[in-house]
Amino acid sequence: MSRLVMKFGGTSVADLERIRRVARLVNAEVLAGHQVAVVVSAMSGKTNELVAWTDGSGAAAAGLPPSDDEYDVVVASGEQVTAGLLAMTLRNMGVSARSWMGWQIPIIADDAHGRARIDDISPEKLGGAMDAGEVAVIAGFQGVTRDGRIATLGRGGSDTSAVAIAAALGAPCDIYTDVDGVYTTDPRIESKARKLARISYEEMLEMASLGAKVLQTRSVELAMAYKVPLRVLSSFVEPGEAPGQGTIVCDEEDIVEKRIVSGVAYSRDEAKISLFGLPDHPGVSSAIFGALADANVNVDMIVQSKARTADTANMEFTVGKRDAQRAVEIVRAAQPQIGFLDIAVNDDVAKVSVIGVGMRSHTGVAKSMFQALAEKGVNIQVISTSEIKISVLIDAAYTELAVRALHAAYGLDQL
Ligand code: ASP
Ligand code: MG
Repeated sequence: MSRLVMKFGGTSVADLERIRRVARLVNAEVLAGHQVAVVVSAMSGKTNELVAWTDGSGAAAAGLPPSDDEYDVVVASGEQVTAGLLAMTLRNMGVSARSWMGWQIPIIADDAHGRARIDDISPEKLGGAMDAGEVAVIAGFQGVTRDGRIATLGRGGSDTSAVAIAAALGAPCDIYTDVDGVYTTDPRIESKARKLARISYEEMLEMASLGAKVLQTRSVELAMAYKVPLRVLSSFVEPGEAPGQGTIVCDEEDIVEKRIVSGVAYSRDEAKISLFGLPDHPGVSSAIFGALADANVNVDMIVQSKARTADTANMEFTVGKRDAQRAVEIVRAAQPQIGFLDIAVNDDVAKVSVIGVGMRSHTGVAKSMFQALAEKGVNIQVISTSEIKISVLIDAAYTELAVRALHAAYGLDQL
């Protein structure tokens, strides 16, 4: 019998009615002959509520999970509720099932509480129960540290739980969510966005890390590393109803129809910090970004330019919005070593990116991007590129306009 991992997000288990529908979808796979492990998120809104309960500490107020093991005890509880409810519902339907918490499997995680990574999964007990014909209902988002404490995997972490379990079981992973696949861009911004039949792991990874919220970035990394066949599909269908194929996330070689650009992503979660009048000598960047790295501030885009005044330079870089204030304080504190004249923050910016593996072999992708933005009068503040993506930082007010212009420029509405 083949094994299958199914994952359901918060909106798919938002109430008992929806949990019953999930149970029907699970049962359909059981009847089709699969041994099923189901990973569930907390009911939608629950984790936010639990996170809010832990507010009050300075770290939480700054938007960061306090690095505290008890934060994880609180926020992991939402998944425990849905796992129990789904197991009960399945039993009511005559399907043998039981719930599993992270520590019961166990899913061993490191102790970076609030954003832990999975170190190891022992699939023996779980696999044994599945072999015996029992559906395994697994609480997503949580693992257990080597010294026995609960650890959560970062927001959106149930995707990562599901892919990690699929890798451990040697099974494919179906991610059921409130959209029916991965789109060329956010359909709320561009109604002509198209669902992609297939997307490569690498493109999906860029899309996820550049702001598309369908899958947690880490889950895509894992799927790519362990070659887990991944599918994104809608949970808002009944078994037997044409479910659609969703989107298959796979190796680049398994995509027949080649595109140059596969999608346009955006993120409003950006802030730009500008430093003026930096001394232009070795060690300055190292002092700035060393101080930020030591404080765990993630820096994304960076540009440095020579200033008009002799021997000085200006530098601009971006960080997540929630880290902006902290980043400024850190850089200010290091001012005596760095020696800049002025610092400014702008958090009214957005990052818009185009992604596609075809960029590796085609020229002119950047040209089309800059041309399309110029035609709409969108000013570009910072540019960064990688092998398969180009990102620009623009005024946040132009986000929608830019996304639509780029979507059209690459013909994504005509896929
Ligand atoms: N419930 C957690 C969250 O909201 C994990 C997840 O849904 O993936 O972040
Ligand atoms: Mg999610």
